This record gives sequence, C-alpha cells and structure tokens, in this order.
Amino acid sequence: MKVLITGGAGFIGSYLAEKYLERGDEVYIIDDLSTGSLDNIRHLQENETYKGRLFVTVDTILNREVLLELIGICDVVVHLAAAVGVQYILDNPLSSIMINIKGTEVVLELCAKFKKKVLIASTSEVYGKQTHAPFRETDDCVYGASGKFRWSYAASKLMDEFFALAYYRTMNLPVIIVRFFNTVGPRQTGRYGMVIPRFVKQCLRNEPITIYGDGTQTRAFTHVKFVASAVMKLIDSPKAIGEIINIGATEEVSIKELAERIKRLTGSQSELRFIPYDQAFGRDFEDMLRRVPSVDKLHSIVGPIPTFVLDDILQDVIGYFRSHENFA
Ligand code: UDP
Repeated sequence: MKVLITGGAGFIGSYLAEKYLERGDEVYIIDDLSTGSLDNIRHLQENETYKGRLFVTVDTILNREVLLELIGICDVVVHLAAAVGVQYILDNPLSSIMINIKGTEVVLELCAKFKKKVLIASTSEVYGKQTHAPFRETDDCVYGASGKFRWSYAASKLMDEFFALAYYRTMNLPVIIVRFFNTVGPRQTGRYGMVIPRFVKQCLRNEPITIYGDGTQTRAFTHVKFVASAVMKLIDSPKAIGEIINIGATEEVSIKELAERIKRLTGSQSELRFIPYDQAFGRDFEDMLRRVPSVDKLHSIVGPIPTFVLDDILQDVIGYFRSHENFA
C-alpha cells in the first residue's frame, strides 16, 4: 500500500511512518518542518531496508500542486499536519488557524477528487472545558470566550471534523476522524508546551519543575506507539469509516502527581514550583481541568491494542533524554 502522511516528520507521524515501513508499505511524507524535524525520520532514511520505499517532500500542505501529485499517487492519506501544542498555538495564532483550516480543506478536496480514503487527526481539545470523565465521542463540546485564544485550536479542529463529515455525507468520501489525547514518547520536544518532556528535562537538570496552576488538573497520557498502532488498525477497518474515534489511554493522573513521579523516577533534587497560569501563558488563558478518554468505541472497532502504563511511558522518555545528553 502507498500511504501519504502529512506531517510525517512530526512526532506522531514519524512513528506511524516507521510502522508502515516495517509492514512493507511505501511511505510518502509531506512536512513543512514548522514543528516537525528531519531528525525524527533520519533513522528511517538511513535504513537500507527502507530504501526506495520512503519519499520525503519538504513543503507546506497549502501547496496545492504538490499535494495534488502526492494524493494522486497514494492509496490512503493520513492527515496529521497541523499546528499543535498549546504554547505554539498561543505564539502563532494566525498561522495555526490557517494551517488547521485551510490545510485540511485542501487535503479533503483533493482526496475527494481522487476518491482516496483519508484519516483526519483531531484532538481531545475539541471537548473543551468539560470536567466529567471519561469523554465520549458523542459528548457536547464546551468552549470559553473567543478572546481566550486557546480555544481557537479546539474550534479549528472541530471545523475540520465537520468538513470531513460533510464530505462523507455528501460525497461518500471514506473519512475517519480520530481524536488524539495527550500523546507522549521519545523524540517529543517540550518546546511547544508538552508537559512530560518539560518535566523530565527539568528533573534531569535539577531545575525547578514548573507546575502551572495548582497542579490538580488531570490528564491521561498515551504512548505514541499505541497511537500509531491504533491509527493503522483503524485505517484497515471498514467499520471506522464515517466515524469519530478517541485514541488515548485511561490512566488519569494530576499534574502535581506527575511531577512527583518524574522526580522520583529520575532521582532528581528539583523543587516543585507552582506558577500561576497568567504568568505562564498571559492573561487570557484557561486550562482544561480534566481530560480522560472513553476508548470503548476504539476497542469495539479494532479490538484490544497493547497499552503502556504511565511509569513505563515515563521510563521510556527519561531513557531517551538520558541518552541524548545535549537535549535542547
Ligand atoms: N503544564 C505544566 N507545566 C508545564 C507544561 C504544562 O503544569 O511546564 C500543564 C498544562 O497547564 C496542562 C498539562 O500540564 O494542564 C498538560 O499540558 P500539555 O501542554 O502537555 O498538554 P495539554 O493537555 O494542555 O494539551
């Protein structure tokens, strides 16, 4: 099979590319390297077994001509290219909306032209500030005021979902929409706000661990390898077409507990430092207090997928940073 992965040099995309290559598929990547990096896929490009099966284009998905050719060649499209990370969205408000809305618009239009199956990556952010757990795909989405820019990410991704569903309903385009929950693992950088790489780096340097707010907000962290497996299985499953599906883990942890665990696992001397949200992100910020997925739908479609407990995920990330001493 020929698979096009938009954003394939990104954190999740690079793991997915590797799994497809391992399976013997042909992988085409398009990435503008805005948050992705060729470092994420260098090991794939240098692997002799993958020679002639991996093709990388450095360009934006807004370049219609390039995308037209790539989608024409491939059998299936995995659309991961997007602005991601709370810090990145706040720092790049305009380009984030552009890429998330216009980029998906171009991808869907061209997939419809060639009638190619497409998986659209959405996010748990779309649930907004609900506080119950777990989030089911049929739950309401609740956002704050538009002056609080964090919600632009949720709103733009929700629009992507509507767009994809509209193509499915009106043109019978085979679309699958997945909502990724906090995905982590080796190679993720903390540059765009992601908490686990940030805490691990802080602990390894014995610097203060920066807990935003009072640390009672919770998340459930998923290993990127679980996410890549789930995406592949969903693409192979006819039952996933036209559906919205959560992909995540269900082990809920507070951010304070997370800091304490990482401190313990690294044997760090770091102090826990609580930083008010307005100091961390500016005045117009609102956090999500609780975020845990229901994975009933995922399992009903693809069956069980091996999961990773949080401590194993943390050990994996810690091991990665320890072996990359010059981490940024
Ligand atoms: N967070 C934190 N300190 C940091 C980075 C993040 O306390 O240095 C918090 C953040 O406010 C959120 C949680 O950790 O409550 C998860 O943040 P992340 O950016 O990883 O993902 P989000 O769930 O916000 O998309």
